[in-house]
Amino acid sequence: MSKQKKRIFGIDLGTTYSSIACVDEYGKTIVIPNAENERVTPSVVFFDGDSIVVGDIAKESSKLYPDEVVSFVKRSMGEQNYIYEFNGKQYRAEEISSFIIRKVVQDAEQHLGISGTKDVVITCPAYFGINEREATRRAGEIAGYNVRQIINEPTAAAITYGSMETDREQVVLVYDLGGGTFDITMIEIKPHASIEVICTGGDHNLGGKDWDDRIVAHLVEEFQKSTGSKEDILEDPDTCQDLQLSAEKAKKVLSQREKTPVLITHGGERVKVSLERKRFENITQDLLERTVSLTHEMLHEARKKGRDRFDDIILVGGSTRMPIVAERIRQEFSTEPKLFDPDEAVAKGAAIYGWKIFLQDEVKDKVAKKTGRKVDELDDLEDIDLKDVLDEVEEIVAQDTGYTVSDIQRSRIKIQNVTSKSFGVIAHDSNDQEIVYNLILKNNDVPINISRAFGTAVANQEAASIQIMENESGETVTRPEHAVLIGNAVLNLPSDLKENTAIEITFRLNEEGRLEITAEETSETRRSVNVTIETRSVIQGEELEKAKTRAQHIVVT
Ligand code: AMP
Repeated sequence: MSKQKKRIFGIDLGTTYSSIACVDEYGKTIVIPNAENERVTPSVVFFDGDSIVVGDIAKESSKLYPDEVVSFVKRSMGEQNYIYEFNGKQYRAEEISSFIIRKVVQDAEQHLGISGTKDVVITCPAYFGINEREATRRAGEIAGYNVRQIINEPTAAAITYGSMETDREQVVLVYDLGGGTFDITMIEIKPHASIEVICTGGDHNLGGKDWDDRIVAHLVEEFQKSTGSKEDILEDPDTCQDLQLSAEKAKKVLSQREKTPVLITHGGERVKVSLERKRFENITQDLLERTVSLTHEMLHEARKKGRDRFDDIILVGGSTRMPIVAERIRQEFSTEPKLFDPDEAVAKGAAIYGWKIFLQDEVKDKVAKKTGRKVDELDDLEDIDLKDVLDEVEEIVAQDTGYTVSDIQRSRIKIQNVTSKSFGVIAHDSNDQEIVYNLILKNNDVPINISRAFGTAVANQEAASIQIMENESGETVTRPEHAVLIGNAVLNLPSDLKENTAIEITFRLNEEGRLEITAEETSETRRSVNVTIETRSVIQGEELEKAKTRAQHIVVT
């Protein structure tokens, strides 16, 4: 048994449900139940006077207090205009998500009888852009944790899958249909060595919620038919909440049974509807077809990278429990998809990743002490000069932690990712029309560094601003209307530069999908130029500090 004291939790921060996992002292990955003894917690937040309630009770409260309950906040991550107001206070998506994170961590600590969690790994859809990822990180920070890594949900699922399927090298497609998002990702798993994302695609506005909405629309129609009324009963917030809950329940029942009764009550009238699975599949067929065509689009991109085969399709995300999903995939790709731990694979993968970080921290710390080098200089432990010291240190870490040397060695596994978006800058073409010039293209391997030079317009220019654009295009040049402005990089130039001095700007997209921009002026002095990225879609600066302080005074249950 291990003597491991420190734990890095893995958190699957889902659109509809969240869950938390860790690797226990026996090296086993466990999903930790919440205070209500459930393995998943609804990502629903109820503003109950001075306290905040998260989970099942919040979900149930949405019927009685629809205005005080926030659901599906993940769909608004990184959105500049999303503000929820309660009791005169304004909350952004990051802060509301931070309550969900606190709830799952608090409950996990209580269950395990520990306290003082510092580090967490949080997952997000592969499809998330820069601002959504940054917002996810901020949510963890506001909750009071050190977010060691944001990893993609399909990658997390592949880590779990790869840690079970021990010795076979294989390429898998991870078809991840969750509550609010659809991700399709091609991943190569080399057991104990690497997990490499080859290509990714999807839609961050397509998920189980859309299947629920179709049932809701169907129920409204049935109510109107039965009562002869033309009223839009969804305008009544109570009825609307009620129908949403009934629709999700009915959908889940239809994964098990051929039909289910649903009761609609509104304005004193009660209508009983019998919903059949076939009918449900019919009214949601186009949604499923969209996932199939997105899968083909991704395969097309993979082919461009020279990858034209895969071994298995694994299904993750709660919505893959709908039997039609596996059926359709089987029919389309002539392969038997594997329904793989749909609710828990993501949290478990994040936990395994957190555990690897913990073991690598221990190794690096000891290697640093033995060699007199700094921990941050030890990025590449494969460095041949370190071989002897590494062998010795891995033995010591194994003794200290109680894990095996082979566990410690396996924690060196490499994760190689790709970017799900293209990034560019606003430039002008030969006709002086504004264009987006992409420096980093969708599905490029990350980390990636790209440098470009531009000349200062006048002598002694004090600053220059670059508009950073995110888009889905796979081409170097695209139209500004097909891209979104994610921020401005402001270059604060030294004041003594001559006209037309070249400034070399480097875009670096790291493994986590965070964009860093550095710049250097290229006169004889070659000074680095201070760059700040200004974005209004992610909570930051004073607002972030206020949210952190406010969080300390808020009780979450
Ligand atoms: P996730 O984000 O992976 O937790 O997936 C949550 C989504 O899965 C929600 O839309 C749920 O309604 C849906 N879901 C969970 N269980 C089932 C089920 N048995 N049948 C159909 N959908 C389900």
